[in-house]
Formats: sequence, C-alpha cells, structure tokens
Amino acid sequence: IPGLVSVIGLGAMGSTLALLLVKNGYQVTVWNRTSAKAESLIREGATLATSAVAAVKASPVTVICVHNYAATDDILHTEEIENNVSGRTFIQLTSGSPKEARDFEAWTRKHGARYLDGAIQAAPSQMGRPDTPILVSGAKDVFEQHEALLKVFGGGISFIGEEAGSASAIDLATLSYVYGSVLGFFHGARIVESEGFRVDTYSDLVAGITPTFGDFLKHEGRMIQSENYEISESPLKISVDAVERISDQAHKAGINHAFPTFASALFQKASAMNLGNEELAAIIKVLRTAN
Ligand code: NDP
Repeated sequence: IPGLVSVIGLGAMGSTLALLLVKNGYQVTVWNRTSAKAESLIREGATLATSAVAAVKASPVTVICVHNYAATDDILHTEEIENNVSGRTFIQLTSGSPKEARDFEAWTRKHGARYLDGAIQAAPSQMGRPDTPILVSGAKDVFEQHEALLKVFGGGISFIGEEAGSASAIDLATLSYVYGSVLGFFHGARIVESEGFRVDTYSDLVAGITPTFGDFLKHEGRMIQSENYEISESPLKISVDAVERISDQAHKAGINHAFPTFASALFQKASAMNLGNEELAAIIKVLRTAN
C-alpha cells in the first residue's frame, strides 16, 4: 500500500523520482536546497517541507537523490537531523563510490536508522519503466520492505547484496564498460569526420551492432552531425564525475588504472573547456583538438 515518503533533492533525477511517487499514490513530502524547484511537484500534490529535518520527520522513509555524497553530508549531518532519524529508513539514490555508501550506512547505523543504497543506471526520461535498471544493496529485510516503492522508480531492480557498497561497486564496473564503448564511439566519429563521411550514417551503423545502446549512440551521432550540443539525454558533467569515481576506485583498490587515467584526462580537458553543461556528445570538441 502506498504510504508516506519523503524525497530530498529535486534535480533532474530527484524531481522525476518524486513525481513518479506522487503519480503512484504515495503521500510525498519534498525538500530541496533551492525550494523553487518544488513548484511543479506541489501542483501535482506533493508537500514542501520547510527544512530537511522536517522532510525526514514527515515520513518513515526518505529517498535522497542529490549531486553527490558530499551534498548528502551537507544536508544530513546536523545534530537536529541526527537526533530525529532513529527507526527511520534512508534510501540513498545519489551516485557514489562503494566507500561513500559504506560510510553513509555507518552514519545511519550510528543514529539508529536503516539504509539501502541504490545506483540508478538510467536517465530521468527512462525512469519508471518495466525494465529501468536500478542496483540496490543493503539489509535484505529492508530491501524486501521497500521493494514495492523501489519498483515505482523502475521494474529492473537487482538486489546486489547486503554489503552497502556492492551496488556502487557493480555500478562503477558497468560504467567503466559504458565509457570504454562511448569513448571508442566518439573516436570513431573523428575517423569518420576526418575521412569526410557523415557522423549520423556512422552512428546508424554502430547502432546496428549494439542494439541496446544503439538509440543513445544514434542520438549522440545526430547531435554531432548538426553541431547541436544542448543537453538532451546526458549532461557531460555527469560523465566527468563518473569517470573520476572509476579512477578513484582504481587508485584506492590498487588495480591497474591505465583505462580510467586515459578516460579521466579526456573528461578533465572537457571540463576545462567548459563543456560540462553541454550534452555528452560535446566530448567530440576535445577530440577535435590536437593531443
Ligand atoms: P542535478 O544536478 O540536476 O541536481 C543536483 C541536486 O543536488 C539538486 O537538488 C541540488 O540542489 C542538490 N545539491 C547539490 N549540491 C548540494 C549541496 N551542497 N547541498 C544541498 N543540495 C545540493 O542532478 P541529477 O538530479 O541529475 O542527479 C542527482 C543524482 O542522480 C546524481 O548523483 C547523479 O549521478 C544521479 N543520476 C543521475 C542521472 C541523470 O541522468 N540525471 C542518471 C543516473 C544517476 P539545488 O537545486 O539547490 O542546486
């Protein structure tokens, strides 16, 4: 039975999650640092909490989806909140590293709360579908208790394990695969450009050999062909952070970091060129520069 749930963080993803909950009959309380972002949700039936602590107190379960774990700490690590979380559950859907998930779980345990860590592997426009992939880790009984709520966000939920960091670990590994393919794809676009062929013809051909990923790559190919890099599917800045997390994990785990170091250099250059607020396809501008 849909019940009370709070959502902290109303960016592109958080506001999508809150809207899905409202549409599925939950009584949703929301809070965001910038309260103006709650306006359309309030019109849909959500309630705006006056503070983060009010949001946490409004429901037995709080979903968090903000920029990163540092932002989560900024919001939750206050005495007032710590005194009010006992017996409550946090579902952390902010992307992060396995260690950040473990640290957050330790914070919840210390203050008597329960915890699930989730990694969303889809864009906001893909949320709420029967196959939307979301990885979840944490105590199995807490997962079972909140499985119906999580299914509102996407039917493709995989419970990865009880260790809090395991969803993030698998998320990082799959992201590594994605960036390997994506960077190879964009280098391919440079080959095509330098030989005087159309990038959208090339991306249609690549889509034929990678059906599941194909629609996204076709989209990116069309953006390059039309030189339009307005954010439409995946802001480049998300990739800057994701590749940094992959690199950080490799260094901390002591595994070979040749691939993340290479990918990170490209995305750091994109950041320095101020491409963060453009579509991922804008990485082509980095690849068009000399080495
Ligand atoms: P946005 O950049 O759209 O929103 C960021 C959110 O974080 C806003 O609510 C912002 O508040 C808040 N925030 C940032 N810093 C702070 C801070 N110091 N204190 C308080 N609040 C803060 O990001 P998304 O919604 O797209 O992403 C949220 C999470 O979801 C990220 O971890 C991302 O990796 C993950 N995700 C996103 C996907 C996507 O395609 N968008 C896909 C898969 C995962 P304010 O509005 O006040 O700035």
